[in-house]
Amino acid sequence: MDSNDPRSLTLIGAGLAGCLLAILLSQRGWKVTIYERRGDPRIKGYESGRSINLALAERGRHALRVAGVEEAVMRQAVMMRGRMVHALDGSTMLQRYGRDDSEVIWSVHRADLNMTLLQAAERAGASIHFHRRLHTVDFDAGYARLIDDRDDQPHDIRFQVLIGADGAGSALRAEMVRRAGIGERTEFLDHSYKELTIPPAPDGGFMIEPHALHIWPRGRYMCIALPNDERTFTVTLFLPNHAAPGSGDPCFASVRSGAEVRALFQRDFPDALPLIPDLERDWENHPPGLLGTLYLDTWHMGGRAVVLGDAAHAMVPFHGQGMNCAFEDCVALAEAMDRHAPLEDAFAAFEAERKPNAAAIQAMALENYIEMRDRVDDPDFLLQRELEQA
Ligand code: FAD
Repeated sequence: MDSNDPRSLTLIGAGLAGCLLAILLSQRGWKVTIYERRGDPRIKGYESGRSINLALAERGRHALRVAGVEEAVMRQAVMMRGRMVHALDGSTMLQRYGRDDSEVIWSVHRADLNMTLLQAAERAGASIHFHRRLHTVDFDAGYARLIDDRDDQPHDIRFQVLIGADGAGSALRAEMVRRAGIGERTEFLDHSYKELTIPPAPDGGFMIEPHALHIWPRGRYMCIALPNDERTFTVTLFLPNHAAPGSGDPCFASVRSGAEVRALFQRDFPDALPLIPDLERDWENHPPGLLGTLYLDTWHMGGRAVVLGDAAHAMVPFHGQGMNCAFEDCVALAEAMDRHAPLEDAFAAFEAERKPNAAAIQAMALENYIEMRDRVDDPDFLLQRELEQA
């Protein structure tokens, strides 16, 4: 599969970044082989279990445009023209992102997006192998071991170059750390999240305003909801793992049962409660998701291996930019490979261009958590926004 052909590349992970990069590199004549841990979602359904929809912004759209897949993705996207802030008394206020609908963001369904990109990657010439989880790498010999989790069978492959688009828990990054000590550090937030669902209205429409990102800010915690094109909303509740002593704040340590989450919604999100009929079931079936920021000193090992997307710079989701940033990485890496040879120089140029940007977005994402949960209903903040937009 991955022969001695100097134009052959091995990608780990057929998620969002892996597929987009495969399209861009195949279009440039590289022979791309992808290994993906999960099964083919087009055959057996999507098994991610996290963040069902994502906010797509102009940065991400630009990358999709460069790869020629923007139109296919935008067919399934729902426009969000601003934040719809829900106060405790049930009143709502739309804060537009820009002056008009030329400055908006879009909600896209992760599974639909991934399947669209998989399809396009195959059409561009990439070959994708599912049920192949990267396990270990011998960088010197150019061998990697992959495991099929259905029967625990190992599959060994030869490679020239490994590109890691295998997400926040990247196995390739772990092997690079083991081999070359690339300076990995993860800072976990003391907050986690749970996903809940607002189903369609009885008439088949949306239960609440579809063209907005809904926020229920409550100081040290919050709920958000993004629309899906099948007329549902994915609700994400962000709570501290442990509350400050004496604060009376809810937290994952204290809200455990379905009855306790119902009481929390009755008290803090009363207008959202009737919208989530399966609240208790969703709560009990979905484990809380962890949130953290990943920093690496180096994103590549010479010309032998490089990581991008969440594998290089996972971030907290409060700016809605992790995927957008991962998509920008793909264009930057493909263009660096056009401009520089050998690959070691291309990877170094890619890292030099993208690492400072990723660090800035990671910092903004952390800051935006405070803004979303605590400031979007603050009169001083709103006045400042109006002045900025005037
Ligand atoms: P992933 O999408 O995680 O893809 C990694 C792929 O690699 C997967 O297919 C996985 O199965 C595969 N894989 C993993 N390990 C192996 C292995 N060992 N071998 C082979 N394959 C492997 N971003 C936004 O831009 N907008 C948002 O609104 C937004 N909201 C978010 C909300 C939440 C709650 C969270 C947690 C994240 C959110 N993000 C958002 C961030 C976004 O999800 C990520 O930045 C994005 O998925 C990164 O893409 P990726 O391709 O790097 O990684």
